[in-house]
Amino acid sequence: MRREIQSTLLIAFLLCTLSTVAEGAELVKRDSPLGTVLGYKDTPKLPWTDNKYHVHDPDRPMPKHVVTDAAATRELPGKAPEDAIVLFDGKDLSKWEESKWKVENGYTEVTHGSLKTKEAFGDCQLHVEWMAPADWKGRMMSRGNSGVLLMGRYEIQIFDSHPMHDEQIYPDGQAASIYAQTPPLVNACRKPGEWQTFDIVFTAPVFEDDKLVRPARVTMFHNGVLVHNDQEIMGAMTHRNICVYRPHAAKEPLVLQGHGSPVRFRNVWIRPLGDSEE
Ligand code: MG
Repeated sequence: MRREIQSTLLIAFLLCTLSTVAEGAELVKRDSPLGTVLGYKDTPKLPWTDNKYHVHDPDRPMPKHVVTDAAATRELPGKAPEDAIVLFDGKDLSKWEESKWKVENGYTEVTHGSLKTKEAFGDCQLHVEWMAPADWKGRMMSRGNSGVLLMGRYEIQIFDSHPMHDEQIYPDGQAASIYAQTPPLVNACRKPGEWQTFDIVFTAPVFEDDKLVRPARVTMFHNGVLVHNDQEIMGAMTHRNICVYRPHAAKEPLVLQGHGSPVRFRNVWIRPLGDSEE
């Protein structure tokens, strides 16, 4: 019986394919900034575009082409994609509010206080390269401690969590954890003194009349390895407590946290996210 159903489905599929070819599906050409676009206008309309576009519609806006360059290595910083806002290129902290952070040899280093962008951001792709100090002699709980505070309040933890150490911080405080909430899927930490990368895709929370209607979410790679897969963020960063959401603007500045350890940063860039058809 099952085999009969499979055969019937296969014949139906072949007839359908053949009829499409037999009708000589009409290729339509359109000019675009990226050259001539070939597509179809004799196909069904896509309901999720409010019937604005056909399947394979050549009139649908072409996503913008973005030039990308080398990814970061342990030795060399990566290059930001063409359409990114470069927040720190190794030399210039002008995109940030005034701070005491040191800038030298292609990196900035935590001294006192945190670093806060002048511009505010919502949904974004964020790339951060960081390094925990190679020869930390202080408290274990401050070992490479820093953080990426999305919207100034949702913390992706920076910490030296390499397994070479005898003592480790709690899982929801280790490198790449959503601090005080969710540990990363794996520990992808490199040794202190080695450059590491965070690639973060962040969806901002939505508030209506001061009520949370959609929590924030994050997908993230640490040194190229997936550590959060569309993970819900439960609230703003807290310590030894249950996090909560408090209403805030749709866009807020990004903060790199100073936390008593000379963590270094280089090549920090952000791409505010929208819709390719907007
Ligand atoms: Mg921290």
